[in-house]
Amino acid sequence: MSDSDFDIIVVGSGCAGAVAAYVAASAGKSVLVVERGVYAGAKNMTGGRIYSHSLKEVFPDFEQEAPLERKITHERIAMTDPESAMTIDFTSPELAREGQDSYSVLRGPFDQWLAAKAEEAGAEYICGIAVEELMRDETSKVVGVRAGGDEITAEVVIVAEGVNSLLCERSLGNPRPKPSQMAVGIKEVFELPAQVIEDRFLLPEGEGAAMLFVGDATHGKVGGGFLYTNKDSISLGLVATISTAGDGDNPTPVYQMLADFKEHPAVAPIIKGAKLVEHSGHMVPEGGYVMIPQYVFDGALVAGEAAGLCMNMGYQVRGMDFAVASGRMAAEAACEAIDAGDVSAAGLAGYKQRMEDSFVIKDLATFQKWPHVMEEWDAMFNDYPVMVREIFNAMFCVDGQPQQPLRRRIMPIVKKRGLIKTAREVRKAVSAL
Ligand SMILES: Cc1cc2nc3c(=O)[nH]c(=O)nc-3n(C[C@H](O)[C@H](O)[C@H](O)COP(=O)(O)OP(=O)(O)OC[C@H]3O[C@@H](n4cnc5c(N)ncnc54)[C@H](O)[C@@H]3O)c2cc1C
Repeated sequence: MSDSDFDIIVVGSGCAGAVAAYVAASAGKSVLVVERGVYAGAKNMTGGRIYSHSLKEVFPDFEQEAPLERKITHERIAMTDPESAMTIDFTSPELAREGQDSYSVLRGPFDQWLAAKAEEAGAEYICGIAVEELMRDETSKVVGVRAGGDEITAEVVIVAEGVNSLLCERSLGNPRPKPSQMAVGIKEVFELPAQVIEDRFLLPEGEGAAMLFVGDATHGKVGGGFLYTNKDSISLGLVATISTAGDGDNPTPVYQMLADFKEHPAVAPIIKGAKLVEHSGHMVPEGGYVMIPQYVFDGALVAGEAAGLCMNMGYQVRGMDFAVASGRMAAEAACEAIDAGDVSAAGLAGYKQRMEDSFVIKDLATFQKWPHVMEEWDAMFNDYPVMVREIFNAMFCVDGQPQQPLRRRIMPIVKKRGLIKTAREVRKAVSAL
């Protein structure tokens, strides 16, 4: 019988932490969650869409219970220069099929629902206090946390404190991510009546759209814009890589990028007449597989973005489904290790095994070259949107002058950039996808 205060302490009640607490408490373990926000979700932010597969595994009835905004049935990707936009608009019944469906969410209500599920399962919560440090014994094993002047012990601590984890850095010795692996995200929420949102996006009642933007949203810097339709609001924002957005050569601060983005002809009509009700900013880890640090320690596991689990593919942004799945797997492995009486890193290795066997590590490994390709592909954010504008102008502008065949109008535009150079760049990108 252990003389620790709790079997498991979870640091942070975001997607990873609340799910870890729910799974461990449901398995009969005594669980304490320490959350620095005054309530779960108070400090949290996301762009807005969760792929539901990992949530369904933990909460099979989530669709009836969770505060979901809209089921996303329309996908749009826009390439923009300062004045033009070329948009792909896709919809299909497969997007809504159970198991591969996705939903827009607002983290305030969503995280409070997750925390309530963990509490119902028996987890105890302390909110409004940050964990300052992990406590270690003389063998360096993690044995608890220091928070608000208290020392609380546990058999296993699950660190789920999100991006930029100071506990991982200071108490566990994980490295600080490089600026090229981190992005800054800013977002605003605009209220609009549900009917107006559906009219503006040509949506059936209750369904939603996701839209990603490449090019002008970040003033030609690595990153992109996003837009998600909620029930009666729109989440609009952008993510810009810190190494470029924050370097001395960048004349445009991120808040100005957002101000300009809102004025873009592809965006302004969507939010016309809408009321701004929320503004938030947050970091995003974007280094992918290569930035995943050590996540199994003697007495401690790291889950969610604290373990660098996030992926921005330009056409898919994923972090919440990784967080939910890693939280679940961390809790399962912690319960197993406690039952076996071995919470050393070897005893907790079931977490690593589960993660490596799952989509979490497999997907991050498959697309590991992508962040690096993006980092070096300035043209995607500058030259390509301009080239695309010229190509589509060649297709659609009619001025009564005799026209050249389309290929003769398009080839000089592509040749201006360099046909072989462009083909090489595209090939390199496709090989990383
Ligand atoms: C602009 C932006 C857009 C995004 N878009 C998407 C998207 O569309 N889809 C998607 O899947 N993902 C998206 N992501 C990523 C996604 O939001 C994250 O991957 C996900 O929220 C990570 O969950 P988490 O539980 O690991 O961390 P978080 O949700 O950040 O939760 C961490 C929790 O820990 C608490 N905490 C932190 N430090 C301490 C401490 N010392 N003591 C106690 N508590 C602490 C925090 O208050 C917070 O509640 C986006 C992120 C950003 C910033």
